[in-house]
Amino acid sequence: MHESLLTLLRCPFCGTRLSPVENHALTRHHGRIVSGVLGCECCAFPVVDSIPVLVADEASRAAIVALEDGRPDDARDLLLGLDAGRSAALRVLLGRPTPASYRELTAVLSPDAEGTYFVYRFSDPTFVMAEGVLRALGQNDALSASWLIDVCGGSGHLTRVLTHVQAASATPGPGTVLADVVFSKLWLASHLTAPACHPVCCDANHPLPFAGGVFSLAVLSDAFSYIWHKRLLAGELMRLTGPGGAVVMPHLHSALGWNYSAGMPLTPAAYAELFAALEPRLFRDADLLTALLDGDTVDLTAAVTPEAMGAENALTLVASADASLFRRYTVAPATAVSGALIVNPLYTVTRHERGSTLTLTFPTPEYADEFGGCRRYLPDTLEVAADLTAPIDPAALEHALGADYGGLRRRRVFIDAPRHYC
Ligand SMILES: [Zn+2]
Repeated sequence: MHESLLTLLRCPFCGTRLSPVENHALTRHHGRIVSGVLGCECCAFPVVDSIPVLVADEASRAAIVALEDGRPDDARDLLLGLDAGRSAALRVLLGRPTPASYRELTAVLSPDAEGTYFVYRFSDPTFVMAEGVLRALGQNDALSASWLIDVCGGSGHLTRVLTHVQAASATPGPGTVLADVVFSKLWLASHLTAPACHPVCCDANHPLPFAGGVFSLAVLSDAFSYIWHKRLLAGELMRLTGPGGAVVMPHLHSALGWNYSAGMPLTPAAYAELFAALEPRLFRDADLLTALLDGDTVDLTAAVTPEAMGAENALTLVASADASLFRRYTVAPATAVSGALIVNPLYTVTRHERGSTLTLTFPTPEYADEFGGCRRYLPDTLEVAADLTAPIDPAALEHALGADYGGLRRRRVFIDAPRHYC
C-alpha cells in the first residue's frame, strides 16, 4: 500500500487513524508498505503483499503471526485461503519465468463458476452498461478531482475503468481505491486487472474504514443485493463522498423483477429511500444499455420514478447534490490500448490461408443463459483478414482491417485487456 493511503484509512471499529507498527515485520519499498502490521487504538491489522486487511477475523490474526514470524508468503496464502495443494500450485505459477495470466491465477485462487465468469467480464452486458455510465460521469473533471472508490469491486474490472477515467481527467485526484472483503480478488486486481488501484480489504457489512468526505466518486456495482446491512452501507457511501461528489450504483437487482442469483434485493422505492438525503435518480439498465449500443449515449436526464420502474429487472442509481451531472453524454467508443489488445476470450480462433475465423463459444450453458445478451453486439461467427492466433500488434491490425477495425473494437470482438489476461 502506498503510505499516502494512511491519510484516508480509519479503523472500522474505533474510527481512529492507523499507523505502521515499527517492528521487524515491517517492509517498506519506495514509499509503499509491502508487509507489516497497522495499529489503531483498539486493534492490529496485517498488510500483506501491499494490501491492508482491515478485517478482524481468524485468518487476519494468523496472518499477523506469520508476518511477525518472518513468513510473508505464508501470510499471503492464509489470506488467499489456499490449502497445501493450491498453495504449491500458486508458488509454481509465481516462480515461472513467464508471468501467470488472470485465467491461470483464477483457476487456482477461485476455481468455481464465479471465477470462470470473471474471465469474460469485459464484454458482458452488465459491464458494458456500467462502464458506459462511469465513462460518461468521468467527463466531469470534478468527480475525478479527489480519491475514487469502487466498493465491493471484486477483482477490479470496473476499478480498471475508474483508474483510466481518473488518469484522463484534467484534474486527476490522488488515486482509486478498490475495497472488497475477498483478499484473493484484491490480490488479482492489484497484480493484473487494475494495477494502478489502491486495494483495501474490508467488510462492507461494517462501517467502511475510511475518513468521511474524502472521495469525489463512490461506485458500488452489482453487489448491494448481497449486503445484509444495506442501511448502514448506504449511509457509509454518502458519508465517504464530499459535497458535490456522487454515489453511483449500476445494476441494482429489483425485488419486483427477476434476476440470476438475485441475492436479497429491495424494491426501487426502497433503494431510493436509502439515499433520500441526496435525492437519487433511478435509470432502467435496459434503457442505458440500448442507448449505449445504438447511439454511444448515456442519458442521465431520463430518470424514472420508482413507481414507473415497474417490474424492470435491474436499475442504476445515481445520487449527487450536483444537478449538473444529470445531462445527456456522448461516450465515444474506446480506441486506445492501455494493456494488451486481444480477441474477446468468448471466441475460438481458427487460422486459415486468408486470415482467421472467430466463433462465439460460451464457456457453459449457464453463462450463455445469463449473459447471452452479448449477442446484440458479438456476432456468432466472423472472418477477419489477419492472423489472430499470435499476439496482436494494434497498429498493424488497424492497418490490415482499415475501417472495420473501429467497428470490431466497438462491438468488443477485440478487447483492451490487462496485460497477461488470458
Ligand atoms: Zn480500532
